[in-house]
Amino acid sequence: MFERIDYYAGDPILGLMEKYSADSNPNKVNLGIGIYYDENGVLPVLDCVKTAEERIADPIAPRPYLPMAGLPGHRKGCQELLFGKDAQILKDGLVATIATIGGSGALKVGAEFIHDWFPQAKCYVSDPTWGNHIAIFEGSDVEVGKYPYYDKANSSIKFDEMIAFFETLNKNDVILLHPCCHNPTGMDLTQAQWDTVLNVVKARELIPFMDIAYQGFGEDMDSDAYAIRKAVEMGLPLFVSNSFSKNLSLYGERVGGLSVVCPTVDETERVFGQLNATVRRIYSSPPSHGGRVVDIVMNDEALHEQWVGEVYAMRDRIKGMRLKLKSVLEAKIPNRNFDYITRQNGMFSFTGLTPEQVERLQTEFGIYMVSNSRMCVAGLNTSNIDYVANAMADVLKD
Ligand code: PMP
Repeated sequence: MFERIDYYAGDPILGLMEKYSADSNPNKVNLGIGIYYDENGVLPVLDCVKTAEERIADPIAPRPYLPMAGLPGHRKGCQELLFGKDAQILKDGLVATIATIGGSGALKVGAEFIHDWFPQAKCYVSDPTWGNHIAIFEGSDVEVGKYPYYDKANSSIKFDEMIAFFETLNKNDVILLHPCCHNPTGMDLTQAQWDTVLNVVKARELIPFMDIAYQGFGEDMDSDAYAIRKAVEMGLPLFVSNSFSKNLSLYGERVGGLSVVCPTVDETERVFGQLNATVRRIYSSPPSHGGRVVDIVMNDEALHEQWVGEVYAMRDRIKGMRLKLKSVLEAKIPNRNFDYITRQNGMFSFTGLTPEQVERLQTEFGIYMVSNSRMCVAGLNTSNIDYVANAMADVLKD
């Protein structure tokens, strides 16, 4: 009966994690999956989260179903983080926000909504992008195309080509954008470049869908949301998916949000209703535990401040690792330019290694990164960085 079912080859990034776990090399280093590990190579529980957990645990409360859209405090937390605490559009009730099952859930609900209500729209993603972007939109029967983004030869952005491409798109086509810490390249647009992109979006009446999974890991909470807030300032309709997986270190709790900025209150209510309907038919309502943590941390002023400090400490540690990696590689291979390492933002570095070099790192040194050469810099620490830099220098030299 089931013999015709295709085998699943597995997810390339999650599969790498399994391979890493099975590796007996005592020096092995996991730079594959996008997870922040601290200086001791440990997945941190943030102090603000510990406090929230204590509050949740005392007293242990009943666990009713949450509303389809999740906890109001979770939704408000998403909104204020993305659009700014005092944003006029929030006062005016022009944002439909639901709490979602991680950033992935937000993308899925958004993709379903676009399929249902903008059936002609194609969705364009950056070349390259996080692989699941394509899978999620195609899984909702939205046709996916790619726009030029990364220039491998120069470790830069093909900005002019990208703009020229956007100029060819049709009204209501969706462009998926990464407001900060682009995954997988780490190469972000400048604010002036965002302005140019959004002017094209406006002129051609495209639908911007901004996916922000690393807010706070680039420059700071507000600068990382520049593109989102600029789009709002320009009066554009806008989808935003956000994830708390990384910046609250709550990967397994699956917490995120989907926000849609609308022109009028009536439209906001319609959109909010349809987002609820979409949730109802997929998974009915989001999980409560992570939602309660988000609610507490985002809405308690002192905890929020503590949280921001903890995110910046993670950001700064990653930046420190970038500097160190760059300096060791420069010393080892003086004729090669490694500036790209510190020009990139967020958790990832696109190293430009060939698939063969990535494979050699894995088999000869037990160093795991994605075959497209994406390295998770947050997996580096003072104990493993020399080992990794020397191994990289070795495979680059041969
Ligand atoms: N968007 C991007 C760009 C991501 O990198 C990720 C996580 N790797 C997600 C969305 C999904 O986030 P989550 O893990 O919260 O589902």
